[in-house]
Amino acid sequence: MMDVLGPSPRPATAPRPASLFDHTPDTLGALLAEWRQPAYRARQVLEWAFLHGAECYEAMSNLPRDLRARLAAELPLYQSVIARRQESADGTTKLLLRWADGSTSECVLIPDGERRTVCVSTQVGCPVGCVFCASGLGGLQRQLSAAQIVEQAMRVRAACGGEARLSNVVFMGLGEPLANFDATLAAVRTINADWGLGIGARKITVSTVGLPRQMRRLADEKLQITLALSLHAPTDELRQQIIPWAERVTIESLIEACNYYFAATGREVTLEYILLGGLNDAEPQARALASVARRMRSNVNLLLYNPVEGLPFRRPTDRAAQNFLAALREAGINAHLRRSRGLDIDAACGQLRRREHADRTG
Ligand code: SF4
Repeated sequence: MMDVLGPSPRPATAPRPASLFDHTPDTLGALLAEWRQPAYRARQVLEWAFLHGAECYEAMSNLPRDLRARLAAELPLYQSVIARRQESADGTTKLLLRWADGSTSECVLIPDGERRTVCVSTQVGCPVGCVFCASGLGGLQRQLSAAQIVEQAMRVRAACGGEARLSNVVFMGLGEPLANFDATLAAVRTINADWGLGIGARKITVSTVGLPRQMRRLADEKLQITLALSLHAPTDELRQQIIPWAERVTIESLIEACNYYFAATGREVTLEYILLGGLNDAEPQARALASVARRMRSNVNLLLYNPVEGLPFRRPTDRAAQNFLAALREAGINAHLRRSRGLDIDAACGQLRRREHADRTG
């Protein structure tokens, strides 16, 4: 089996307007030095943006007026507007952001006790095309820049209580993060940085459908982030039926990549498994999944499928889900059944975008 990157995503080239959220203290310092500003200005600007949540340069009251004006003219801070907002009775809040080119991205706040998790997208649309997923239906439109990924977390934070701290960030929204590798990595660094969102590496999860070469590349960065692998099927045959990219990536090659990740980082890879009623939720499949998980040293998160209008897949019965979980645990796997959140809003990724598109096109 080739260690492929996955079917080459060949995304449309993204317009990448420079934004403040693309910068680090060093790069911003260099830019401001060209503008003949003192060295401390970069930290000041980043503090306003990240620590105080300033949404425009005008609010950065201790910056000289002419600097604020120049920044506003030459370095966009926020690039999106909030096109839609949906709140679930359980507190889950989903935002649909519209970018200057008219494309849209979803991001979600998932509060759970003390935990405030934001889920961000890494691409506009998704190239993978999982058959059960709303996002896969429209294909990939373009990559998101690092700044646009970071901006989603900032928008969610601002929309949900301003300076309240986010505790976790998961790269599990629309898109395949590792097919937008550089932007994802830069966004992870900014989200983790003490001058950025300041979220601990272990509280950051990057989810992938499984690109072995990129998983190794991420491992080589030796970050302490969590890598989550969307397996969704315990055999190549079934996996290929539901994840088109699995046609060129065997489970065996994913086991090797996960073991490489563990060896390089000391971090266990988490397996994500969406239970689809009648398709991958039988007990023999749980036992097959257990043997894969054991070889990857992975724990398993089970998720109940949220039905998508127009797609022929259904949620498993509670009994099937409980039996599946029990079979994994009996086989010695650390497994959890995650609660579905935001069921009363368009909770599954991609659904809010689809609804917006349908409304706009009549
Ligand atoms: S499930 Fe994830 S990887 Fe698959 S099509 Fe949807 S967004 Fe893409």
